[in-house]
Amino acid sequence: MMRAVQGLRLMSSHLKQHVQINQTIRTTSSIMQPFMDLDQGGKYQAYYMWIDGSGQNLRGKTKTLNRPVTDPSELSNWNFDGSSTGQSLGENSDVYIHPKAIYRDPFRRNSNILVMCETYGPDDKPHPTNKRASCNEFMKRIADQKPWFGMEQEYTMFNSNGTHPYGWPTNGYPGPQGPYYCGVGADRIKGRMIVEAHYRACLYAGVNIGGTNAEVMPSQWEYQVGPCEGISICDQLWVSRWILCRVAEEFNVVISFDPKPIPGDWNGAGCHTNISTEAMRLPGGIRYIEEAVEKFSKKHAEHIAAYDPTGGEDNRRRLTGLHETASIDQFSSGVANRGASIRIPRHVADNGCGYFEDRRPSSNADPYLVTDRVIQTMLLDD
Ligand code: ADP
Ligand code: MN
Ligand code: MN
Ligand code: MN
Ligand code: MN
Repeated sequence: MMRAVQGLRLMSSHLKQHVQINQTIRTTSSIMQPFMDLDQGGKYQAYYMWIDGSGQNLRGKTKTLNRPVTDPSELSNWNFDGSSTGQSLGENSDVYIHPKAIYRDPFRRNSNILVMCETYGPDDKPHPTNKRASCNEFMKRIADQKPWFGMEQEYTMFNSNGTHPYGWPTNGYPGPQGPYYCGVGADRIKGRMIVEAHYRACLYAGVNIGGTNAEVMPSQWEYQVGPCEGISICDQLWVSRWILCRVAEEFNVVISFDPKPIPGDWNGAGCHTNISTEAMRLPGGIRYIEEAVEKFSKKHAEHIAAYDPTGGEDNRRRLTGLHETASIDQFSSGVANRGASIRIPRHVADNGCGYFEDRRPSSNADPYLVTDRVIQTMLLDD
C-alpha cells in the first residue's frame, strides 16, 4: 500500500513536471508571436552557417539582405572571428565565409534563408577546416557517373545541460533495449515532438529528408537524408543537423551526435552511408557494386580514418562487433548483414542492381570527408 502511494506521488510529480515544461514552451512561443508576425520593412534575414574548428559543430550568424535571394551567387561573402571558433590562422583572426547553398528558413519563414558556407583563409585558399572544397572538386570530376548518396543520421537527445539522456530515469537506467525501436507509448518513446517538428522543418527548408524512426536505445532516433546527387547530400545533411539542434533548443533539449553516448549494453549512433552510381542503378548493376566493395576492402584503414572527426578514435568506442556493428579492425561485407562493414541490401541482391550501404561512418562524421573518401576509392582508384 505504502509503495503504491509513493508510486502514485512519483507519477503525479512527473506529470506536473511534464505539464510545466509544455506550458513554458507554449508561453515562450506566445510571447514571441507578435514580434515574429511584424512585417520586415522590406528587408530579409540570412543565417550564414559554417563548420567550426571542432569539425563537428556548426556556428552561424545573421545578416540583413535588401532583397530576397534565391541563389547563393547573389549573396556576398562575409567573415567571422576565427579566434573564437578554433579556426584562427596566426595573427590574422579573420576567417572568410563563402555562401554555397541556401534553404528556406523554417524558423523565420517568409523569404528569410539559411546559408551553408565554406571557410577561407586570408590568402583566399580553403581554410584547413574546410573539407567541402576538395570534396566538391572530386564530385565535379566524377559528376558524369551521377553518384547518389543517402545518409542515415542517428542521434541521441540529452537534457539541457547535456549530462543525462532526455527522459531517462534521474537515477539509474531504463529497462533493457528491445521495446523502444520503432515503438509507441510514453513508456517507450521520448521526444517525439522534436522529431515531428524537425521533420516538417526539413520539408519546409527544402532538405530532402527521406524518413525517420525511433532507435534501439531509448531517446535515440534516426532520420534519413537522400538520395541526393553529388555535393548536395553533404550540404543538406549539415543543414538538417543544424535544424535539429535549433528545434531541440525550443524544447530545452540538447542533441548529441556522439557515436557511443552511453557505454555498455546500449546501441551506439552511426551515419550509415548508402551509395550508388548510375551504372549500379541500371539492370545488372550489381556487378559494379561488387567491384566497389572489392576496392573498399583494400582501403579499410583509410576509410576508418575519414569516418569520424577524430581519425577513428570516436568510432573505436562504437565499432565493437556488437550492437549491429562490425569490428573497427576488420573489413567485412555481406548481403543483408547488419553486422558487416558494408551491407548489400537483400532487395538489391534480388534485383541485381541498386546501391550498397557503408555502415562504418559515425553519427558525428563529416559527410564531406566521408563522400570524398568514397569517391577516391570507388571512382578514382586512389
Ligand atoms: P536501413 O535502416 O535498412 O539501412 P533506411 O531506409 O534507413 O535503411 O535508409 C536507406 C537509405 O538509402 C536512405 O537514406 C535512402 O536515401 C538511401 N538510398 C536509397 N536508394 C539509394 C540509391 N540508389 N543510392 C544511394 N542511396 C540510396
Ligand atoms: Mn563584435
Ligand atoms: Mn536506417
Ligand atoms: Mn538506425
Ligand atoms: Mn542502415
